[in-house]
Amino acid sequence: KPVNLKEIVEEVLDSYRINATKHSFFIEDSTDCYELIGDADKIKQVFNNFISNAVKYSPNGGLIIIRFYEKQGNLFVDIEDEGLGIPEDALSKLFTKFYRVDNSDRRQIGGTGLGLAISKEIVTAHGGGVAVTSALGKGSTFTLSFPLATKKEMRPDKSSEDIDAAVLIVEDDD
Ligand code: ATP
Ligand code: MG
Repeated sequence: KPVNLKEIVEEVLDSYRINATKHSFFIEDSTDCYELIGDADKIKQVFNNFISNAVKYSPNGGLIIIRFYEKQGNLFVDIEDEGLGIPEDALSKLFTKFYRVDNSDRRQIGGTGLGLAISKEIVTAHGGGVAVTSALGKGSTFTLSFPLATKKEMRPDKSSEDIDAAVLIVEDDD
């Protein structure tokens, strides 16, 4: 079933905007197609996990940016925070079940260590991927990618110039 990723993110953000008063949430757009084929509830769970982490591991608040962009038929979503960050040696273990970073700066913050492992499973089941970059003490950026439901050249709402350009790009890639 087609799922609109931006609508899901807006829904998730609505609940955090009310409860997370120390944080501000900002959506950045450089695309206009958000449709992918998948399970809306599971994808909502994924964004709930990433956004709840962004809030939870930014105990002093700050800006949380959700950035959408399209690259080669994939929809990318960055979830960027200004929180505690992640030590470099932990990055490779982050998506493992029950793994939690054991640092004094986050010992008080509760969790089971399952959110990221489950999220990765759901995203890969949708043909997508997850990645993370982080600077300790400065913040983290998690990047999700999903294959788009509609190829650009098939979209009826595009002008013929756009269609030509999209077809050229697609042929370039092969
Ligand atoms: P839960 O199962 O409730 O989600 P959790 O948040 O501890 O528990 P994960 O979401 O899987 O588990 O995250 C694993 C670990 O990665 C966390 O314990 C935390 O240390 C670290 N982490 C995850 N997201 C962030 C983030 N945005 N900033 C800093 N550290 C993070
Ligand atoms: Mg979590």
